[in-house]
Amino acid sequence: MERARSRQYLKAMGVVLWRQRGTDADAMSVAVENDWALEDAAAPSSPHFVANTSDVRAPQHPANEQGSGPRVQPNTQSAKSTSSSAHAGIAAARAALLQGAPASPRTTTPAKPPASTPPAASQTGVKPKQNTSATNQPPATPVTDLDWPALESAVANCQACQLCTRRNRTVFGSGDRQASLMLVGEAPGADEDRQGEPFVGNAGQLLTRMLTAIELPREQVYIGNIIKCRPPYNRDPQPEEIAACRAFIERQIELVEPHLLVCLGRIAAQALLQTSASLRDLRGRWHSFGPSQIPVLVTYHPSYYLRSPTEKARGWDDLQQIARRLRKLPH
Ligand code: SF4
Repeated sequence: MERARSRQYLKAMGVVLWRQRGTDADAMSVAVENDWALEDAAAPSSPHFVANTSDVRAPQHPANEQGSGPRVQPNTQSAKSTSSSAHAGIAAARAALLQGAPASPRTTTPAKPPASTPPAASQTGVKPKQNTSATNQPPATPVTDLDWPALESAVANCQACQLCTRRNRTVFGSGDRQASLMLVGEAPGADEDRQGEPFVGNAGQLLTRMLTAIELPREQVYIGNIIKCRPPYNRDPQPEEIAACRAFIERQIELVEPHLLVCLGRIAAQALLQTSASLRDLRGRWHSFGPSQIPVLVTYHPSYYLRSPTEKARGWDDLQQIARRLRKLPH
């Protein structure tokens, strides 16, 4: 059964596997290669076999190699020039979110955009948008006390960090709000920003196939991101943005009460576990989160497999760990 699932998964992920004669399933020699082109030829109309790498950008910093996703590093020089003024305002806004205090993020000095040369809207195809619908009022109730509708509304109207100025839509989260398994990603990309749903691009499609491989329909999982608004040009979220947004994912976890949390990529893992450890150090062992000590597994972001198909075998190991843990849960 497990072997059959292995083959199903590896086929779905474009993995070629052969078995050395006389060895058992655990001793399988796995060779991984990017054979999506062959699959495309066999089933050109099937979205399951299309590895469109057009949205997979090469990492620009070695620290991004370990599965943090395709994001680029921020312009730290310009960030330094803006972070000090933005930081105080964001800290105040976050405090307002947590405590329901009557502080307004617009009373602070607005953060300037990075000094680097941003492409024009016509080049990106995404028109920067001012959030004219935002009420600019903090929630009357602290985030920690919000129910689902109020939390969703708070995110939709949030202006607690500079990312609100460029978003098309906030990306709240999706899936089963009573799920046993909750996946935590990093931040919306272009597709997510347009559609308002997490993991809807190529990486999201791959994630869906990965879940299917362990017989877990995506609809039975809850998926949320650490950051609810798309960072410009897919750069890494900055620490003050993560801090400003953190209360939302924490509340989502409280409401879902999952039995198991899985962090997808370095940024999500570092933010949720509040550590600066590398993904290499965090992956492969269990962590815990919150007062309930929810078990947390750290694995690669699906986009990492699009860039580095040979790492899919490691991803399969992580998926098996998740499946084993879920099977042990009381029904
Ligand atoms: S990223 Fe989070 S904190 Fe920043 S504006 Fe969006 S919802 Fe608010």
